[in-house]
Amino acid sequence: MKVYVGDRLVPEKQARISVFDHGLLYGDGVFEGIRAYHGRVFMLDEHLDRLYASARAIALDIPVPKPRMAEIVLETCRANRVQNGYIRLIVTRGVGTLGLNPYNCKNPQIICIAGAIQLYPAELYDKGLSIITAGTVRNHTEAINPRIKSLNYLNNILAKIEAINAGVMECLMLNPQGFIAEATGDNVFIVRGQQVITPPTWCGALRGITRDVVLRLAQACGYEGVESVLTRYDIYTADEVFLTGTAAEIIGVVEVDRRRIGDGRPGPVTRRLAEAFHELTRRSGVPIRSGKTS
Ligand code: PMP
Repeated sequence: MKVYVGDRLVPEKQARISVFDHGLLYGDGVFEGIRAYHGRVFMLDEHLDRLYASARAIALDIPVPKPRMAEIVLETCRANRVQNGYIRLIVTRGVGTLGLNPYNCKNPQIICIAGAIQLYPAELYDKGLSIITAGTVRNHTEAINPRIKSLNYLNNILAKIEAINAGVMECLMLNPQGFIAEATGDNVFIVRGQQVITPPTWCGALRGITRDVVLRLAQACGYEGVESVLTRYDIYTADEVFLTGTAAEIIGVVEVDRRRIGDGRPGPVTRRLAEAFHELTRRSGVPIRSGKTS
């Protein structure tokens, strides 16, 4: 495998980063998880917009403009012959002193890894996930805004530990007010009648690229895509619950806190949206081969 690091593609074994990089020392940096489908990078511009917005939010100057970053992603895919896969694009604060001061870090580092994707086991897409609500509260928006896709994922990891210790693979996180925020690595939706509802980002959710796509697809499929404050009451009483994310795509949730959701199987709206999503991945994206935007 070849990895892009610093300013070039190098063999995996030579892909190194300094122990003085603030990305490592403090989780000081930003990243994106991106998918390639059928030789095209899905929603590349949207991912780059979010990456640059995350960087702006932490006062990190990305050393290359967006069009060059798009090329870096495509070059990394080409070098690894990725047609269908997962791309991890990272910008760290770079090497600095042992102190916190980010302004001592003069060279932010770009890392791009393109490889295979590890999904939830296929049968879970048929059967649906069992999840819990975690006790770990999602970061307060004025502490670390969950809209920033930063390298600091400890908040999510602490919740994930609770999930795994409880024998499930994911969990919902509530914000400090007790409203539903999101899952540890995915956004959450409920279906209520004709409405497909997800919490607004101010409730402590990342503005997921898949979330945005699903809100649009919901409208296109004749449902009403809505952002609304949700509590656990809304989850427990929903017709359907599902999670969305670049890696997970759209996956039904059939049990929350050991309570059955709907009839205990991924519902028709979840399945319809997953179908529409897969259809979209087949016909959109930036071609890896030519590097031109579609
Ligand atoms: N929330 C969190 C905390 C995430 O890390 C992610 C991405 N893995 C998502 C939501 C989903 O975002 P996207 O659809 O852009 O992958």
